Amino acid sequence: AKENPILEVESVHVAYGRVQAVRDVSFSVPEGGLIALVGANGAGKSSVLAAVSGLVRPGSGRIRLEGKDITRWPAHKRVGAGLVLVPEGRQILGTLTVAENLRLGAHRRRRQAAPESEMYELFPVLAERRALPASALSGGEQQMLAIARAMIARPRVVLLDEPSMGLAPKMVDEVFAVIERIRASGVTVVLVEQNARRALRAADTGHVLETGAIAHSGPAAHLLKDPRVVKAYLGVE
Ligand code: ATP
Repeated sequence: AKENPILEVESVHVAYGRVQAVRDVSFSVPEGGLIALVGANGAGKSSVLAAVSGLVRPGSGRIRLEGKDITRWPAHKRVGAGLVLVPEGRQILGTLTVAENLRLGAHRRRRQAAPESEMYELFPVLAERRALPASALSGGEQQMLAIARAMIARPRVVLLDEPSMGLAPKMVDEVFAVIERIRASGVTVVLVEQNARRALRAADTGHVLETGAIAHSGPAAHLLKDPRVVKAYLGVE
């Protein structure tokens, strides 16, 4: 049942006081799929992920995981059900070691968690640095750690918020290679990126957010050629 949506977002609105950050956003993600949410700074991408992961309560709309309405579930219950966010800005704990940061991720799903050794196979750079404080890692390595900390919880759906932000081009390539491997392992991915071209190249389906609403949606390969998307978000290569 590959075509069944694992995640459904239906008419979601998010407001912060009088600021309408997300307006009537709907999309669904098939199990094992990789979708990209792209758009300018402040378009509402992070707010969509915040609503899906339970960090903010949508003003209206529904969120379903495997058909179950999770709209009112607290964030930790969503993690327990396999829906895990890798937040923007990584949010790893610099004074703890790499291994300790990984264990925090595992703790969130005690019984289902993967062994640490599995993460070191997936992220060899972390194996070499497991005893170092996380603050000693480069920006790209910290991003890898943030992704590994999510993956150790064996998520069914992983929400990645701007994983390539602020990274050197070589690290951007490595982060996208990791995203491909995650996807190849059968985990469903929702990827939020300002790097629209890279994100759409990795994704099956894309949604372009403009001032809180979805302005364009479709197969990622089509969006990459859509003149409106090219002009506003892709430009010349
Ligand atoms: P970015 O890439 O800069 O994170 P984004 O597309 O993810 O942008 P959001 O962070 O979701 O966009 O922000 C959408 C809108 O909501 C913006 O106008 C932003 O200023 C506003 N906003 C976001 N978080 C808050 C908050 N906690 N309180 C008030 N306004 C907020």
